[in-house]
Amino acid sequence: MTEEHDTPPTPVLERIPVHGDCPRCGAEELRRYPVVSEGGWFEVVKCQQCLLSLDRSPWSRLGPIQLLTDLL
Ligand SMILES: [Zn+2]
Repeated sequence: MTEEHDTPPTPVLERIPVHGDCPRCGAEELRRYPVVSEGGWFEVVKCQQCLLSLDRSPWSRLGPIQLLTDLL
């Protein structure tokens, strides 16, 4: 049957665990995943505990191309 909701379906995006811990709260809950914002798609690394953004880089519109961030 057809479901009618006001909210669009939320795309399920893979959240990739990132090794390390949050510099703010110390939680080992870092995840890397793409988000869309006014500037387009970005790939972010966020702490899932306090939502601190550790990294943010432009993400390809063309598909899931892995970008290595400059953490070195
Ligand atoms: Zn945190």
